[in-house]
Amino acid sequence: MEQYDYLIVGSGLYGASFTYRAQKAGKKCLVIDKRPHRGGNVYCENIEGINVHKYGAHIFHTSNKEVWDFVNSIVPFNRYTNSPVANYKGELYNLPFNMNTFHQMWGVRTPDEARRIIEEQKHDAVVAMKAAGVSEPRNLEEQAQILIGKDIYEKLIKGYTEKQWGRKCTDLPAFIIRRLPVRFVFDNNYFNDKYQGIPEGGYNKLIEGLLDGIEVKTGTDFFDDRSYWEGVADKIVYTGKIDEYYGYRFGKLEYRTVRFEEEILDCPNWQGNAVVNYTDREVPYTRIIEHKHFEMFGEKVYENPKTVISREYSTEWKDGMEPYYPVNDEKNTSLYGKYKDLADKEAHVIFGGRLAEYKYYDMAPIIEKVLFI
Ligand code: FAD
Ligand code: UDP
Repeated sequence: MEQYDYLIVGSGLYGASFTYRAQKAGKKCLVIDKRPHRGGNVYCENIEGINVHKYGAHIFHTSNKEVWDFVNSIVPFNRYTNSPVANYKGELYNLPFNMNTFHQMWGVRTPDEARRIIEEQKHDAVVAMKAAGVSEPRNLEEQAQILIGKDIYEKLIKGYTEKQWGRKCTDLPAFIIRRLPVRFVFDNNYFNDKYQGIPEGGYNKLIEGLLDGIEVKTGTDFFDDRSYWEGVADKIVYTGKIDEYYGYRFGKLEYRTVRFEEEILDCPNWQGNAVVNYTDREVPYTRIIEHKHFEMFGEKVYENPKTVISREYSTEWKDGMEPYYPVNDEKNTSLYGKYKDLADKEAHVIFGGRLAEYKYYDMAPIIEKVLFI
């Protein structure tokens, strides 16, 4: 009864890229997805003529030319450049931390002036650590202060990070913030990558292109009829949760999740930017996304009289919620290791993507891994 070479469980970017490659190699593929739509977390819904990123804002960025050329061959990408703004109790700052931020924070105008202030504050943080008898930062708070100093830590990092992770910065590991970008130039581009953008017409176009001509059954959960699905193909590509695949036999892996509160507003331009981070502890959400700014630039913004915004609330994950960010602490990493040992022994199943590998993947590394390695 095997009719397909591959059954692909999950039509997210991993499943769709794998299917694209397999089809090009002449393989017969069937894709199933338990959600009512294709695309996994990059799925967009068109609301009032605006592509709304239903599972969180997605910005494609890469320095790999092969990957960039490939995605552009499926759908042209626009020139969107991510440059979030931080709102701290009504004060606005550019991100990532750069000369614009330093000017807004201290009124400084030159890199030397900015460097002097940051060095002084870093020095104070090192002295405080020495006084406490430690040589290495013990937590995120200490790490951030020896990287950037007290002012930026307190206004732009502390509240945001505590909301995002649901824990105090003094209880979070230092490594989370070890690669904090600090720039002594006036440059608000959030990413250092050579290429970035959003597919013209939204991410659904990318998924449609990857799955062009493929049989896809949405609203279909692998576990509702597991033995049937296991019989339809020579091999399975599984992109769902790895612990679910093994019936949670060693216990459940944990995640952080995000709750989105969406609102349609009767105004053409609400916050003037796609991403505004709320960095104080008192505002309950971490950021507000105004989706039209991903694809409508300049005067185009005003051609549509409405706008759609999403407030993002970072929350602890419970059963039944969407799993978003793997929690890469010791407990979960070791639990994942047990499942991976089982997965490595499977001859007919390929485990791939964010949920099956229990790994935070950006989009470009998925394309790179599936199509170019
Ligand atoms: P998913 O997209 O999760 O796809 C898995 C699919 O499998 C889902 O459609 C699911 O319904 C299906 N599935 C699961 N179990 C079953 C089952 N039992 N039966 C049938 N189907 C099943 N990356 C960037 O590069 N830039 C960004 O700005 C960015 N922002 C992000 C923001 C958020 C909030 C999140 C969570 C991620 C972000 N990412 C970003 C990462 C990006 O979403 C991932 O790289 C990509 O979506 C992962 O694709 P995937 O196929 O592995 O997983
Ligand atoms: N961060 C912060 N203030 C901000 C934005 C980010 O302190 O305004 C910190 C925060 O600790 C976060 C980390 O930087 O966990 C990475 O944030 P980013 O938005 O780059 O990554 P993502 O949330 O998409 O993983």
